[in-house]
Amino acid sequence: MSGVPMLMRIPYISPLPPPRIIPATARPLAGAIASLVDFLVAPLEKDTAAAETRRNGKTVLLTGAGISVASGLADYRGTNGTYTLNKTYRPIYYSEFLANHEARKRYWARSFLGWTNLANAKPNGAHEAVRRLGELGILSRVITQNVDSFHPHAHPALPTTELHGTLAQVHCTTCKTPYPRDAFQSQLEALNPSWADMLRHLIESGALSTEDPHERAERGLRTNPDGDLELKGVKYTTFRYPPCPACLQKPPPGETVLVDADGASQAGSTAGVLKPAVVMFGENVNAAVKAEAEEAIDTASRLLVVGSSLATYSAWRLAKRAKDRGLALGMLNLGGVRGEDEFFLDVTPENTGRQAVRIEIDALQVLPGAVKAIEELKRIHITGNEVRRQ
Ligand SMILES: [Zn+2]
Repeated sequence: MSGVPMLMRIPYISPLPPPRIIPATARPLAGAIASLVDFLVAPLEKDTAAAETRRNGKTVLLTGAGISVASGLADYRGTNGTYTLNKTYRPIYYSEFLANHEARKRYWARSFLGWTNLANAKPNGAHEAVRRLGELGILSRVITQNVDSFHPHAHPALPTTELHGTLAQVHCTTCKTPYPRDAFQSQLEALNPSWADMLRHLIESGALSTEDPHERAERGLRTNPDGDLELKGVKYTTFRYPPCPACLQKPPPGETVLVDADGASQAGSTAGVLKPAVVMFGENVNAAVKAEAEEAIDTASRLLVVGSSLATYSAWRLAKRAKDRGLALGMLNLGGVRGEDEFFLDVTPENTGRQAVRIEIDALQVLPGAVKAIEELKRIHITGNEVRRQ
């Protein structure tokens, strides 16, 4: 299946059945931590001699919006998730963004208002625990569906594959030049002084500082997981955004980049459209990124899914790939995971965690707990060796 592009589709949104906890002792926090530690550090029974030559004995982490909730970002289908609170939420499609100047105005206006919130959000204790697991030699790579860049910030030494890109950059859809989103924000501010005033007002009034989605909704604000923010009664048609500076200066042969007197994009441009460096719905996951994620799965011994219901096909496919290749599979998620019963069909009754784990407790509690337990194990191990040497 490597040659098949991973098309980003609207997530699978049928209700997901509640999980079967695996092993059954993984229900209270202490039991969950013990099972997860067994999963992460136990010798692997499944690896055949042939497979071991490629397998690194480590775990790949596949994370979704659930791991960023504690940083104040909304997830999609948790209690306060976007699909839970806002039944009519529909994200923008790639083709719509490319084709439609008005759709881009609307996208960038909402993104302009939402950026401050995302730019001020920080990785949380679960990301810190991931960093420690990397330092302890437990993890080989993190594959994330998140576009908040918390993983690369929290653990620069542990490699991260950002499956769906990052909001920290925009890039030109014509010449592919990347630009930092921060600088782009300043350009948007300069082109939209009245919007900038409104944003300042929202920040001062504290409307943007509450992390409670219900409170936000009461104040006429909604935040979506992709950093997008909605505001009632606002005319998006007045919003202005700039084109790619490189394409504006030297348009590709036969193309036109139209701007007004202030340098804002005009309808009718055929090149130089800037886009957030994230995979939109209806867009393919970058082929090199997809290959990197698959390689990480193929060389690892275990896959642990954290904070994702695998509702997005590109993420579900990676878990399926891990399963097909005989990796031990763990899932740490509040709420059901797409097709999870089938992932755990072959788990035997004597499993204590090393074959599979399915935990339904907040990652912010479970991951730091597992780090502490593994550190303790390693300390005992080192002390034991020292005692023997004496
Ligand atoms: Zn360009």
